[in-house]
Amino acid sequence: MTQEKTQLDPKEIYDYVKKNARLVEDYIETLGASGMQPSGGIIRPVFSAAWLEAHRKLAAWMREAGLEVRADGIGNLWGLSKGKESGPGYASGSHLDTVKEGGKFDGALGILAALSAVRFLKELYGPPRLNLEVVQLCEEEGSRFSKSFLGSRAITGNFPAEELDQSRDAEGISVRQAARACGFDPGQLAAAQRNDLAGWLELHIEQGRLLETTHTDTGIVQSITGIKHLGVVFEGQADHAGTTPMDLRSDALVAAAQAITNINSLARDLGRPAVGTVGKLSVQPGATNIVPARVELTVDIRHPDPATLAELNRRAHEICQNAAASQSCGVQVELLMEKQAAPMTPAIVKALEDCAAELGISSMPMVSGAGHDSQVMVEKIPSAMIFVPSKDGRSHSRAEFTPLEQIMPGIALLAQVFYRLAY
Ligand SMILES: [Zn+2]
Repeated sequence: MTQEKTQLDPKEIYDYVKKNARLVEDYIETLGASGMQPSGGIIRPVFSAAWLEAHRKLAAWMREAGLEVRADGIGNLWGLSKGKESGPGYASGSHLDTVKEGGKFDGALGILAALSAVRFLKELYGPPRLNLEVVQLCEEEGSRFSKSFLGSRAITGNFPAEELDQSRDAEGISVRQAARACGFDPGQLAAAQRNDLAGWLELHIEQGRLLETTHTDTGIVQSITGIKHLGVVFEGQADHAGTTPMDLRSDALVAAAQAITNINSLARDLGRPAVGTVGKLSVQPGATNIVPARVELTVDIRHPDPATLAELNRRAHEICQNAAASQSCGVQVELLMEKQAAPMTPAIVKALEDCAAELGISSMPMVSGAGHDSQVMVEKIPSAMIFVPSKDGRSHSRAEFTPLEQIMPGIALLAQVFYRLAY
């Protein structure tokens, strides 16, 4: 085996991947047809008819590639390229579910890249030394049920059984009912947990513009960013817009406007990868001739370094206090949600960097500003992510697109690192 390994020419893998580009394109287009709307957007929530149809296509392709196929209790789909030796193996994949009117690439590409890489390696070099698995993970987007990451949380033992009945969609259907209707056995939830994986890899579109603007083939994710969501309420006083002089007003919207501008500047001044967004605002009473009395808004701040995120949070609070004081308003700031940053596993990150260099593929270290299943996986399994470019940074949209020639380097990198780890 060792002897075979030293004979590997990385170009061989890359050439084979390129030679089979049409197969990858066919996978993407055929899978993208499941849930496709006349608008060109995809609606494919977990356990829907469109999702199940796509699930079946994947299972058929896995079998065609010579993989052993099974679904676990929550509906994750596994395709195993059985290793010649026992012992912990490696897995790669992503999610099949889309947001409403999403695109063909977010999630789906990660599964198809893993399937392609494992299939190509098997065709070139036969069965691996250690198990290699391709995985479809359930409900990453949270577009059907209130809680996301169903699949990766089941795999890492982070999915409390109560949630099967408690978590319901807009029609009141529980996770258990929806999974059963697709033919899965949620009673087997505990058995979905995996303690025998040596590593996890996820290829994903960047969903941003950094790779495209720097003409870099791949991003190697060092960390998935930490997030805090704040709910802010400014309380002023409703007064007549014609009769109340400017100097006697408590205008909650003016306070909010100041806070919005200053939170934007705060993140801007701190520089990448800090981000700060006010994306939701409500104004009451909301009339043309009344001074706004109450404004509710949300603040989304993100940074991969916990200390910097804490500082962003402290200063966002300070900005809201100062903005309120300047307009003689009251303010309350509440933490709505927080997610710790998830650093990827250095050894796997290093393997990706080394393999990219061997293949002559350009790569850059990146922080993921969006959440991914890998942030759940890394809690239990050594993990890393590969980003490929997104045209114009578009994502969660039917405009999502990555040309085939920008996908091939990512698949070659995944194949190369799998070869290094498992052959
Ligand atoms: Zn995704």
